[in-house]
Parts: sequence; C-alpha cells; structure tokens
Amino acid sequence: MTELFIKTNCILCNSANSSIYIDNIVHNCQMLKNLNINSIVDSSIMLCLECSHHYLSPIIEENTIKDYYNRINSEYYDYIPSHARKNEDLKILSAVQKLKPKGNILEIGSGNGFLLNLFKENGYQCTGIEPSPKASEYAKNTLNLNILNTFLTKDTFAENSFDVVLLMDVLEHIYRPIELFNQCNKILKKGGIIVVLTGDIDSLNAKFWKNKWFYFNYWEHISFFSRASIEYLLLKTDFKLIKYSIFNHTGSYIFNLYKFFIHNILMNMYNVWIKRKFKHTISSFDHMLVIAEKK
Ligand SMILES: [Zn+2]
Repeated sequence: MTELFIKTNCILCNSANSSIYIDNIVHNCQMLKNLNINSIVDSSIMLCLECSHHYLSPIIEENTIKDYYNRINSEYYDYIPSHARKNEDLKILSAVQKLKPKGNILEIGSGNGFLLNLFKENGYQCTGIEPSPKASEYAKNTLNLNILNTFLTKDTFAENSFDVVLLMDVLEHIYRPIELFNQCNKILKKGGIIVVLTGDIDSLNAKFWKNKWFYFNYWEHISFFSRASIEYLLLKTDFKLIKYSIFNHTGSYIFNLYKFFIHNILMNMYNVWIKRKFKHTISSFDHMLVIAEKK
C-alpha cells in the first residue's frame, strides 16, 4: 500500500538540501476529515537551499489528492452566483488585454468558469480544463463554456495552440511545476503569455503571521512561491518575466487595508486570549500576479 504522507524533496528543483523554515504547520481544512483520517500529522514548511523555494513536507500522496479533486471538492469550488471576485477578474482581464487584445485562451484549473466567461464576453476564444466534475458542469451548462473535465497531460492539446494560458490559484497545488510550465510552453504560440496568480511567501502578511498565514491551512497547498523562486521556474522553462505585481486577493484595496491592520490583528487577539485556539488569518496583499512570455 502506498504511504499517504510523503516526505518530499524540493517540489521545484528536487534537491534534498533544505532547512526547516516554519515548523508545526497546522491544517484546519476539511481534507483529512474527508479522507477519514483522524490522526494529527505534523508537517513543516521547508526552504530549499539550492533554489530558495518553500514547500510543504510531508505532503499527501498525489493520487489521493487527485481523487479528492475528482470526488469531493477543493477550497475554491464555491457556487456564488454573484461571483465575489469580479473586481480581481477585471484586473486580470485588463492586464491580458494590454498584451494580447484577442486570441485563444486556455485556463488550467478553470473552476466554475467565472474568469473564463469574462474573457469570452470580451471576444476571446476560451477553453478550460478542470478536474472537478461539479465545477466543470457549472461552467459548461450554466456559462456555456468549452471545458475539458480532466487533468492536463502532455497530449491534451497540440503544440502552438494558445496565445494565453491562465493559472489562477493553481500553481501552489502542483506536484511538478517545471513539468507543467514546460507543457504550457509547448502549447503556447511563440510570444504567447502565461498568467499566474499565486500566494507570495515573501509578502508582509505571510512574513508577519508565519504559521498563521492562511495559505498554510490547506493540505492541497504544497508550494509557496516568492519572486525569486518563480523567476527560477520561468528561467528553467524558457519564459521571460514581463510583469510582477502584488495582488490584493481578495476584495478592494481598502478592504485589504482593513484586513491587514484591523481584522487579522483583532481576530488573532480574540482567538488567542478568548477562544484559546489556533486559527489562521485571512488573505491580505499576499498574492502575486506574474505574466511571462514564451521565449
Ligand atoms: Zn529547490
């Protein structure tokens, strides 16, 4: 029988040369409960001393996670009819429009299809690929999008098919990021762009809250990128960085200021002193939006 929890080398460069960055990571997500595991599993955030990437170890074995995405759910398959991230999606659309005003777009991990639908409404040809049957059905049936309900493999799409590949809140889940980016490079046309939204472990929110950073709450999150490690990934897979910016995921700038200075501090005091229990903080100015061009 395969071990469920695997001690891993660096998820980015596969080096075993690492040190513990944060110990005793607490996962309050539903993952183990859904997998009927009652034991507490200790894990750490590791710092790779070769490529400077941060990653979780031990991680849950890949097929178990894949089955979880297929059978159950993941953190973002919420069915909010009004779609809470509209403002962020508009920002992503605008960033793409400046570089590629039209063309073929692929979203890997397209979820319910809200972002892809926005691109479709703005004249792009859109394809999504998404492992969750529930999310795929919603995107297909309600939003009338072209969605493949599967995982990406090297044969899913022909070479030089797309002008843009979107990876929104996906990279932190990926077991072999270099393999994925090499696949993205192949299916992009020359000069095509990859657009990545992921958490930034060098952000103030992550550095200040350490093990309470909300990104550490999920067993699905196994990689924690910084500008340095994303640049390493781009360099290894023949992409040229053209845009890096801090992204206040989720909500407006003012709402993120509120979360950073008021909500997280007050809630932390409440949880520590009154409830006397561990709780993660919420997201505030702790994502990065990265756009890179196929060389
Ligand atoms: Zn590494």
